[in-house]
Amino acid sequence: KRKIRIYELAKMLNIENKNLLEILQDLGVEAKSHMSSIDTDIAQIVEETLREDKEAKHGDSKEATVTAKEVIRIDEGSTIERVAKILGKPVNLVVKELITAGFMVPASAIVNDEIAKAIGKAFNVVLSIVPVEAEVSDEEKKEVAIQSERKRQQEPPKKLLPRPPIVTVMGHVDHGKTTLLDYIRKTNVTAKEAGGITQHIGASVVEHNSKKIVFLDTPGHEAFTSMRARGAQVTDIVILIVAADDGVMPQTVEALNHAKAANVPIVVAINKIDKPNAKPDRVKQQLADLGLIPEEWGGDTIMVEISAKTGLNVDELLEMILLVAEMNELVADYEANPEGVVIEAQLDKGKGPVATVIVQQGTLRRGDILLFETTWGRVRAMIDHLGRNIKEVTPSLPAEILGLNEVPQAGERFVRVEDEKEARDAIDKYLEKKRQQEMQAVKRASLEELFEQM
Ligand code: GDP
Ligand code: MG
Repeated sequence: KRKIRIYELAKMLNIENKNLLEILQDLGVEAKSHMSSIDTDIAQIVEETLREDKEAKHGDSKEATVTAKEVIRIDEGSTIERVAKILGKPVNLVVKELITAGFMVPASAIVNDEIAKAIGKAFNVVLSIVPVEAEVSDEEKKEVAIQSERKRQQEPPKKLLPRPPIVTVMGHVDHGKTTLLDYIRKTNVTAKEAGGITQHIGASVVEHNSKKIVFLDTPGHEAFTSMRARGAQVTDIVILIVAADDGVMPQTVEALNHAKAANVPIVVAINKIDKPNAKPDRVKQQLADLGLIPEEWGGDTIMVEISAKTGLNVDELLEMILLVAEMNELVADYEANPEGVVIEAQLDKGKGPVATVIVQQGTLRRGDILLFETTWGRVRAMIDHLGRNIKEVTPSLPAEILGLNEVPQAGERFVRVEDEKEARDAIDKYLEKKRQQEMQAVKRASLEELFEQM
């Protein structure tokens, strides 16, 4: 077993030998003097204890002294927007406070423990996240409802308008994701009226019965999950594509699980129905076994039998997507402070950093100053999916934007800020936080290295 001497560990942890001996005594570990040796396992426990102590002191010292703060319960899964409403605060203000606290999150982000803490701090309340399944008494429920209704009444009504659904196609490899996207783009893209040519900007906008649908161009669940891992939920509806000649395969199940975890409605496209060996009923049975019961069998999952190759029933699939969108009442505040998510980004030799974003709230305009998680910039130009120069972008729609100082990462969120100084300050804060985290990591790594060597 590896050992470390007390004085060495004290030096590493930057504390006095005496204090370390006391800590060890508390932990019930026998150590007589600074020359004694202890197991490295124990050293690690000491290190963790100290770190936790420090973090706890750092975060909670103020709360501890202030008593009788209002405790506000929020449902697990509540968005920042929802919490702002409950608090009776303007969403922009809440988002701004979060930026100041080092959280770059859009109003549509789900409030987790960290964010709840930050909001609580900013508005001098305690936000308690209530698990959805948790037993909440009727009385408590009523109390929450009354409170939120009261707060809601104090807030001016928002102009919520319908927005197009944002759709991701997922499914097993070779089941027809790309073929379907290509077919939809070729036949339904608004390019026809605009006289434009579809340009690859990471997302396409198609029109069906003069209603828009936005398709994310990167099919598959990697993009979907990596965005979600960053806390960005962009997709409103998942098309789960299953080839009728192949049936449910491992990636079908994976995609299904991701969509379920994200609580995104699923429309099933049973593809390759033109093939002689297509067995759509077998696919339905396999999906039913996974809990997706087709409507025709009394379930609530819409399944459309299509051929992405010939285009058979693709119109019906689009129809169903619009139906699901309508049932889910997808709306956005077109007049809110613009915010959204990066779909993809790269460095272009001529244009500099180029990012395709999707606007989630508000209307993004040329000239706006945008703050991302790792960079900022003034929007110099915006290009739509048809390659046209545009002046503004409304919710759900994608645009390629130029004018950023650095290339952001896919999944990064952005908000519009008032001035360059605000953006610069926030980025400086972010960089400082990152630097500290890196230093901590290095310190921890060197400690671990030391343990390794002994
Ligand atoms: P992806 O890996 O899911 O993107 O699948 P692809 O779109 O690349 O399709 C894989 C193969 O299946 C290609 O050779 C397509 O031409 C073919 N394919 C896709 N959809 C259909 C269909 O509806 N009918 C037939 N017969 N072939 C299809
Ligand atoms: Mg493909």
